[in-house]
Amino acid sequence: MKHASHGTQSAHQRSNRVCLMPIVNRVADLQADIQAWRRDIHQHPELGYEERRTSAFVAERLREFGCDEVATGLGGTGVVGVIRGKKPAGNSPVQSIGLRADMDALPIEEASGVPHASRTSGKMHACGHDGHTAMLLGAARYLAETRNFAGEAIVIFQPAEEGGAGAAAMIKDGLFERFRIDQVYGMHNLPGTPVGAFAIRPGPIMASTDAVNILIEGRGGHAARPHLSIDSVMVGAQLIVALQSIVSRNVDPLESAVVSICEFHAGNTRNVIPQTAELRGTVRTLTAEMRALVEKRVREVVEGTARATGARIDLEYVRGYPVVVNHLAETNLAIGVAKEVAGSGNVRERPPLMGGEDFAYMLEQRPGAFIFCGNGDSAGLHHPAYDFNDDAIVFGTSYWIKLVENTLAA
Ligand SMILES: [Zn+2]
Ligand SMILES: [Zn+2]
Repeated sequence: MKHASHGTQSAHQRSNRVCLMPIVNRVADLQADIQAWRRDIHQHPELGYEERRTSAFVAERLREFGCDEVATGLGGTGVVGVIRGKKPAGNSPVQSIGLRADMDALPIEEASGVPHASRTSGKMHACGHDGHTAMLLGAARYLAETRNFAGEAIVIFQPAEEGGAGAAAMIKDGLFERFRIDQVYGMHNLPGTPVGAFAIRPGPIMASTDAVNILIEGRGGHAARPHLSIDSVMVGAQLIVALQSIVSRNVDPLESAVVSICEFHAGNTRNVIPQTAELRGTVRTLTAEMRALVEKRVREVVEGTARATGARIDLEYVRGYPVVVNHLAETNLAIGVAKEVAGSGNVRERPPLMGGEDFAYMLEQRPGAFIFCGNGDSAGLHHPAYDFNDDAIVFGTSYWIKLVENTLAA
């Protein structure tokens, strides 16, 4: 699957390399090191909040590069490096920008077949956070060597993006108080987008992710005497169908929402109506208003179904990551940088993704933008055959470097 590049795509890449010699060439010198770090991290995946080896690796490299400050232990295993430019920022309103990477892996058995595959069974870097970490390390090394900017670049390596809200944990640990961060930027690789291309949009770019846990308590009994029971299976089935009417009947057709009930557990034999049933699912939206509307309707539908069927239904509605909302000015800045790195034809506006990202918490604190960096035709994110595409390293790393040099122009 991996690294299979199409003729047209590699022609694009070649032309990019030719017209963007200055930046790509300097990063190209670092490419072998960045790739080696990436593969090392890939071989040693660690789940959220357990990134001890990875965060020690990151902190060691940052010290080696000569970062002015290296702070560890933020939000558990988070690491922050501070790199001061050659010149002070003076009176510039933007004196410092934060660049964020994530370090955690997933509980998936790797089936990529690559030589640098995971050495820990049941864990793998299936979301490319190994690549994100390595690219930001590469940028840190370059920035610490050259320091061709005014102010401070803050490199942020966070734990537990995959459901653990590591970004929120770092914020709670004082990320934005301990370090001056005027703007904050995030990047994620994206399979299906060509290597050397970037995708971004102003406004919502990734969805809020809320969890729905439902416990139905009916009345168990003999399958042949349903009138004496309250059938938790039927209540669950009705509830699933009724919940689907939220998106089709309550959500403006021009807006977006997802309600997916993905677990339904009930019963263990053919001729017994089970006493209880359990449903679990997820709600995704792209605005705070839509999020509130869908939550309200889920609560009402559950209440109504309980009343209609006589079952007791406990609903646990757990708000997860907020919507990732890109700020307009910073998004335009990011687009300008991406075009400089990739060529204007390779930077496209894309519709939002209904997946979630805890970078949302950082964008609630500071203006900034989240961008996708093409991973080519690799397997999809969270797929056992996925691997980060090392050909994307020069583009992602160059983006980080240019973002600092342009935003904090000396
Ligand atoms: Zn992921
Ligand atoms: Zn990810």
